[in-house]
Amino acid sequence: MLNIASIKKLQIILILILLINSCSRQPEQKIYKKFRILMDTIITITVVSPSEKEAETAINNAFSVIERLDKSLSSFSPDSDVSKINHSAGIDFVKVSTDTYQLINAAIKSAQISDGAFDPTIGPLVNLWDIADIIKPDAHISPKLPALNKIKEKLMFVNYKDIIVDDHDMSIKLRKKGMAIDLGGIAKGYAADKAVAALKASGIKSGIVSCAGDLKVFGNKPDNSNWLVGIRAPRGKLDDLIAVLSLKDLAVSTSGDYERFFIINGIRYHHILDPKTGYPANGFQSVTLVNEQGIITDGLDTAVFVLGPKKGLELVNKMGLMAYFVYSDGSIYITDNLKKLIVPNDKKN
Ligand code: AMP
Ligand code: MG
Repeated sequence: MLNIASIKKLQIILILILLINSCSRQPEQKIYKKFRILMDTIITITVVSPSEKEAETAINNAFSVIERLDKSLSSFSPDSDVSKINHSAGIDFVKVSTDTYQLINAAIKSAQISDGAFDPTIGPLVNLWDIADIIKPDAHISPKLPALNKIKEKLMFVNYKDIIVDDHDMSIKLRKKGMAIDLGGIAKGYAADKAVAALKASGIKSGIVSCAGDLKVFGNKPDNSNWLVGIRAPRGKLDDLIAVLSLKDLAVSTSGDYERFFIINGIRYHHILDPKTGYPANGFQSVTLVNEQGIITDGLDTAVFVLGPKKGLELVNKMGLMAYFVYSDGSIYITDNLKKLIVPNDKKN
């Protein structure tokens, strides 16, 4: 039997439960997304936030970080760090921004780790092949192979060991006139790292920064599940995926022979060049790497692509990276540590 005292006790407990509930009810977390064209590609930033205003401020802060980076690295702008370094090759040191300094040091590390398969002084060869310009829709240039003697000439200027770094005042010099750095193989992974750091500094707990083939996710979706990231089928249409990964706090980078290429006499010539031969590297259609840091996944996806299946896998294992390979014959290899992140077919929808 309930007496008056116990009814009052129950009432108090009920009121307390209601109070606790109303205090702990969080505002609804929503997904906000914006894109901008920067670093010669479409960059998309997605965040989870309880407020549109907070989301917008955080996304704008992150875009400012990428914009600053783009200004330092763009080879189109004559007063970027990269243009100044290339114009002063063989002449003088150039004082650079912290971003450029960090990125060049990371690029040199990728070159050392991969025994020069990744080489940030690939610029003269990239310019000679000119694939990016040839494939522009409004270019009207027919694809043409560079002459072998020209390739040999440019190869003499490709060697990361000829980048001189003065740590004391963050300045860089290229030893020989005619050298040129190209950070296109590592800059987007670095940009993803920096943009995620900027979002976190603005109070965002969860989101995705996607810079074409390089992206980084952090935290969870509003329903607490992981972010899903697709790997493109190299010979499929834009939205054909060969796998979907379920990720939290990880970066993913893909180097693919389908991103920038032309075909002559049935042979595909693409934008990832082997610094030993001066020709596009063969052995893979795509290399996808997963790791905590975008600067690692981006620097090394290009390196592994150039190294080819055997040496590439040795590097992946040595560095403890997760990898998804599509070999040049279309067959697939997935490292054991990545298999557990692949979403089974029946759970994709
Ligand atoms: P990714 O998609 O990360 O493999 O980057 C490809 C870009 O890296 C190319 O468009 C070039 O700008 C640059 N690149 C090409 N070959 C190399 C190489 N062997 N080492 C470093 N960068 C390269
Ligand atoms: Mg790369």
